[in-house]
Amino acid sequence: MSQNQKTVGVIGAGMIGVATASFLQRAGHDVFIVEPGNPGEGTSFGNAGALNGSSVVPMSMPGTVRNVPRWLDDPMGPLVIRWSYLPALAPWLIRFIRSGTPDKVRAQARALRGLLAPSIATLTPLMRDAGAEDLVKRVGHLFVYRSEESFRKESPAWTLRRENGVTWDEFNADELRQLEPNLSRDFVKGVLVRENGHIANPHRLVNALAQEFCRRGGRIERRRAIGFELDGNRLKGIRTDNGTLRADAAVVAAGVWSKPLAAELGNRIPLETERGYHLMIRDPEVVPRIPTADAEGKFVATPMELGLRIAGTVELAGLKAPPNWERARVLLRHVHRLFPALKESYPEERLTMWMGHRPSVPDSIPVIGPSRRSPDVIYAFGHGHIGMASGPMTGKVAAELVSGATPSVDVAPFSPERFG
Ligand SMILES: Cc1cc2nc3c(=O)[nH]c(=O)nc-3n(C[C@H](O)[C@H](O)[C@H](O)COP(=O)(O)OP(=O)(O)OC[C@H]3O[C@@H](n4cnc5c(N)ncnc54)[C@H](O)[C@@H]3O)c2cc1C
Repeated sequence: MSQNQKTVGVIGAGMIGVATASFLQRAGHDVFIVEPGNPGEGTSFGNAGALNGSSVVPMSMPGTVRNVPRWLDDPMGPLVIRWSYLPALAPWLIRFIRSGTPDKVRAQARALRGLLAPSIATLTPLMRDAGAEDLVKRVGHLFVYRSEESFRKESPAWTLRRENGVTWDEFNADELRQLEPNLSRDFVKGVLVRENGHIANPHRLVNALAQEFCRRGGRIERRRAIGFELDGNRLKGIRTDNGTLRADAAVVAAGVWSKPLAAELGNRIPLETERGYHLMIRDPEVVPRIPTADAEGKFVATPMELGLRIAGTVELAGLKAPPNWERARVLLRHVHRLFPALKESYPEERLTMWMGHRPSVPDSIPVIGPSRRSPDVIYAFGHGHIGMASGPMTGKVAAELVSGATPSVDVAPFSPERFG
């Protein structure tokens, strides 16, 4: 090994960890992944698969605070907070609301755009090498509205997108019908962002990248990371539930489960789960050609390899509470309103449901940068709603930080130190 080559352990085999490990390997390092389960079976498993360069809009926007009473009131709304979890959530929620000032959201959107705009271009060489290029479709992303007024209500979000170079085409009711004949006539306005794409099977994509990583000599250590062995501020190894793995550098990419690992290294990161659900219909009567987002319902219907996936909504209830499967079932009612040719109910064998944990920080921008205790440990977590889309560039940047190379995007906004 040359002097700059390191033994690097990547903690977590979700989209972020696998992308990071792939780029580290290409930079010539000796790389292993620490993962107790199988690659791609965490949050990267069941998401909506959107690879949207346009997803620059933070979750907390000016005026968000006005919505909190409604979130506490409607258990089937697009965003809910479980009352019992409110005391534990309060500090995060306060930071979340405070991060929604006009200046802050503008800076957050700019930072996100740097990770998101090159998403597909950054992923492409990895997919090509893994023989998985067929999994990414570039047909755009369609946002639909029931009225011009509801579109106007979202104008702050569209302004942020425009300011960051996102372009789109608008469609009236008739044009929308031609674009997507199966769409309900209740929708009268459509916005198509053509630069966006989607993954036809996120689980298979992460797996294909992980397999290619192993084919190139990478190893997956089936263990759980529990901490770090340091000598002063230099990393000696990753402690696991089954012994210590020697490493010169490490990347923490364990999604929502990264919090205790960062705490051990002196960073108290306000990382919270934004739980989301999906419902999949096998052999659906109709499938949209383009992933379609019901802007008001806050869910996306994505055509996938194994059926139609309806995914979205946010539930703030912590890591431990059991899933509320009614929140997944309700997506069926919502999608029927979007595509009336779909049924309102299906036999159980044609449906699957899933719940996942979005790893979310209050300001909606991921945590990418060195740990407080050791420059040898780099964080790459906290990707919230956009980890699939921002994963490729995060992986590239995290690998650059490990190598001591100039990062492809300015990492200052992602600093773990911003939380104090
Ligand atoms: C309903 C829903 C829809 C979504 N839709 C989209 C979308 O359309 N587009 C988009 O870009 N994003 C979307 N997301 C968000 C996206 O799925 C996440 O941001 C992304 O998957 C996070 O990836 P990750 O690698 O950080 O985490 P994960 O995929 O959760 O991976 C973390 C891995 O770390 C492992 N791990 C945990 N603890 C340890 C430990 N101690 N040691 C070692 N390994 C450990 C876990 O087993 C897991 O495999 C959606 C999320 C949800 C819930």
